[in-house]
Amino acid sequence: MPKRLSRREFVLSSAAVATAAAARAAGADRPAPSQAPAVMIRKTVNPVVISSNNGNIYKNGGDVTGVAKAFGLIAGGSDVLDALIAGVNLCELDPLDVSVGFGGLPNADGVVQLDSSCMHGPKKRAGGVACLEGVRTASRVARAVMDETDHHLIVGQGAQDFARRLGFPIEADLTTERSRRLWLEWKRRTDGEHYLDPVRRSEAFYRTGLEMVRDGLIEFDHFWGTINCNGIGPKGEICGVTTTSGLAWKIPGRVGDSPILGAGLYVDNDVGAAGSTGRGEANLYNLCSFLIVENMRRGMGPKDAGMEALRRIRANTVEQRLLDSKGEPRFQIQFYVLNAKGEYAAVSMYPSKFAVCTEQGPQSLDCDAMFPGRPEPA
Ligand code: ASP
Repeated sequence: MPKRLSRREFVLSSAAVATAAAARAAGADRPAPSQAPAVMIRKTVNPVVISSNNGNIYKNGGDVTGVAKAFGLIAGGSDVLDALIAGVNLCELDPLDVSVGFGGLPNADGVVQLDSSCMHGPKKRAGGVACLEGVRTASRVARAVMDETDHHLIVGQGAQDFARRLGFPIEADLTTERSRRLWLEWKRRTDGEHYLDPVRRSEAFYRTGLEMVRDGLIEFDHFWGTINCNGIGPKGEICGVTTTSGLAWKIPGRVGDSPILGAGLYVDNDVGAAGSTGRGEANLYNLCSFLIVENMRRGMGPKDAGMEALRRIRANTVEQRLLDSKGEPRFQIQFYVLNAKGEYAAVSMYPSKFAVCTEQGPQSLDCDAMFPGRPEPA
């Protein structure tokens, strides 16, 4: 077991790592200053990073998870969005995370198509990409759309061309041996019938997908899987990023909630941030990240605002194919919420975990769930 750091050790070591990294990035040869950055003394808000649970699982071969990396960089004085993107890059690059970036579960044709968005609270800027192929780190391309263009969303071939022109390496194929095998297994189980009438298609989709979860081939939280990561810095700077390979086995060209501002992510620096993982269609219909931030603006705390979004989704889910035998939604969806005071909560339709990192270090905690158990298969 790794040694558990004391709170002070964690803050100081995170800050030291981040300061050294910042110095390296700036091309400085001299060693980073050894004292903790002044920002740790002058802070007015305790920094927090909150994300989906994969943010506290995958390390891409390194020592720290995404939330710990992002927190360390924020503690060291980094721009909050730079820090969050560095954190989610660990999941995007790690082939073991089959919900994001390289090795993400592909679409119905076996091609990995990525969606991502990011928002910078203090700068009031945003960027996103959808259906991006061939670049492992969709979040960095979303950030480039924000920084380098007047636009908020670039999709498909245009997104790849944009990335190529900015110097991102383009790869022919982002699948891995593992994600290819899972796609082949899905093909075998569905017998190639992807364009059935909507009810039969949906039934086939859920039946085979959830069977693969039940058979231990896909983790429950990775059938619907993504990383959303939101953070607040010591001066109250709030930012967020969401990045995903989207719904497993989706119809090619399908865009989920992740790159859509107000759905997969929303940030208002005066109020807070919310982002999502799970069934993107339910979120797109209800624009829940925007709804959550607006409810916090009206005085709700993060947990109440998140639960209100789940209730809205439940009320607007009326199609039989999406309901279980008790008439409740038969899918997972989670929201990760942070307010301007640094208070946070994560809520989910069915029990699941989320990740958070504070000065206490990184943790995986239970989301507040609306229903017990797991969604029933079709
Ligand atoms: N929300 C993402 C989407 O619908 C997928 C997910 O989180 O599983 O594309």
